[in-house]
Parts: sequence; structure tokens; C-alpha cells
Amino acid sequence: MLGAVVVGVGTAGAVRIRDMLTPLAGNAAEKLTVQGFISRRKLDAHQDVKQISAEEAVSREDIHAAFICTENDSHEDFVRMFLQAGKHVCVEYPMALSYQAAVQLWDLAQKKGVVLHEEHIELLTEDYKQLKKEVEGKTLLEGSLHFAGGALKPGFGFLAFSGIARLSWLVDLFGELSVSAATFEEDAEQGYSKMTAQLLTSDSKPLTWIEERQAGLPRTKKINFVFDGFTLTQIPPAPRGTVGLFMQDLIHFSAKLSGQVSTEELDRERVRILHCLGLAQKIQELCKVK
Ligand code: NAD
Repeated sequence: MLGAVVVGVGTAGAVRIRDMLTPLAGNAAEKLTVQGFISRRKLDAHQDVKQISAEEAVSREDIHAAFICTENDSHEDFVRMFLQAGKHVCVEYPMALSYQAAVQLWDLAQKKGVVLHEEHIELLTEDYKQLKKEVEGKTLLEGSLHFAGGALKPGFGFLAFSGIARLSWLVDLFGELSVSAATFEEDAEQGYSKMTAQLLTSDSKPLTWIEERQAGLPRTKKINFVFDGFTLTQIPPAPRGTVGLFMQDLIHFSAKLSGQVSTEELDRERVRILHCLGLAQKIQELCKVK
């Protein structure tokens, strides 16, 4: 059995605890047992799991893995702390708010011989799987992905990082991208922000990625992908899967801990994650946002 600690008990952290308490039978996730959680607040117990300190978590020998479920701006420090202590880490995306930090974290994980896993549940949704099927084998001419949603809570970073899930979609669908331009508009009084990034595929086809945020804005994703002889204007609806998204991710992380994931797949994931973080950083630089 592998002991785990959950850092941050918000929406994601609470689901992590629940999933470890009731894992799907017959897979690697059954090997994980949650030994405690870390919170800034003084809480007695959460789903009957005890609160422990960060110092205790890094020093306990029965804790082998940490789930980092705090706001994005504290991911990097927690990931580093647990990697340095020789623990495996599963971090909610994005693992860091800069490309350089992410590279350092991967290097540290490799040096320590532990697993560093970044959650990407957006690639596990049935809608996305259906979209990927529709796109497969088609030649893209141009496209756009426009995400809108409510105001971002503090601590989630610049839009290119907080919205890395959308960028991961584009990279997973169309391969490596480059950034040709990016702009950022903000109306602080209205709590409005919008990022527009112009991307290019490896064969120079243009893709526009927009992230728009304002309090009360309904959460929507609009796509317009123009292929040779075919245009996709809607994400194909698909029925919900039977296994929850975080549970699927937990199974994937656990499979890595059990050595069930090939080196090629691990490399592919690392390359994709670092590529997306590199693009996000470039977009942030072009938007001249610190
Ligand atoms: P949230 O605001 O609900 O939870 C964050 C929690 O972390 C809060 O309870 C906060 O008090 C705690 N926290 C912050 N700093 C801490 C610290 N130093 N020590 C201990 N606890 C601390 O946010 P969320 O929606 O759960 O998102 C958390 C992470 O999960 C983010 O990185 C987000 O991108 C990712 N994520 C969330 C979802 C989702 O559906 N909510 C989906 C995918 C990824």
C-alpha cells in the first residue's frame, strides 16, 4: 500500500479524498490510502481523514505521495517541497506558473526517482474524446476556440496558465503549436479580462485561442474548426462516462506509481505538458502581463 496526503481541501482536494476512500475496484488506485490532509485552516477532520502539518507529511515514512490541490500560485512550492522529500506528486494543472519552474520540477523528480504527474481531466471527458475522434485524420485549414467563464478566483494566475486545459486540447488535437501574437484586454472596474492568442500549427495553419472572464459570464466553449471540405462548429455532445474524471486521473497516476505506464507514454505526456506551459509563458510575455 502507498500512503498519500492531500494538500488543499477545496473542490478538487475533497474529491481526491473521496476517491481514495472509495476507489474503483480492480485497479492500481486501490493501492493508495489517504493518511491525512493539509489545510491552512484549522479543521478537525475531513471525511474522517485527519489534518496533519506539512512538516509531518514530508517526514512520515508511511506517506509516499502528495496530491497538490491548492490554488495555482502555490503549486510550484508544494510540488518542490514534496519532490525534495522523495515523495511522488500528483498536482492539479498547471504544475507551475512559469515554464522554467516546470522544467526544474521535472528535473528534480527525475533526480529523486519519483513520479511527477500533472492532472489533465479535460482530456478525459467524453465530449473531448468524441471531438478528438471527429478531428482525427482531417486536414485543418484554420480554427478557433473561445472559452468564456465567471471571474477567476485570486491565485489562479494569468489566463494562459489558468486556461491551460483549453491549450492542452488544441495541442492534443493539432500537435505542436507556436505563438505568433497575443493581446490582453482588461477592465478592472468591471472585473473583465480577455486574452486572445494567435497560434500556428507546424504547417502554419492559424488557430485563435480566446479566454474571456467576467463575474456572471456563463461557462461556454465555442469552437470553429475549418477542415478541408468540413467545418466543425460545435463540440459533439457525448453521454457522461461511468467513471468520474478525477477517478480516471487517480487510476492513471496510480498506474504510473505501479510502473504500469510505458516510458514512451510518460515522455509524451511530459513533452506535451512542458510544450503547453512554454506556449502559455510566451503568450503571457506577448501580453506584457507580469
Ligand atoms: P478551491 O479554491 O476550491 O480549493 C483550493 C483549496 O486550497 C482551498 O480550500 C484553500 O484554502 C486551499 N489552500 C490554498 N493554499 C493552501 C495552503 N498553503 N495550504 C493548504 N491549503 C491551501 O479550488 P479548486 O477548484 O479545488 O482548484 C484547486 C486546483 O485544482 C486548481 O489548481 C485547479 O486548477 C485544479 N482543478 C480544479 C478542478 C475543479 O473541478 N474544481 C478541475 C481541474 C483542476
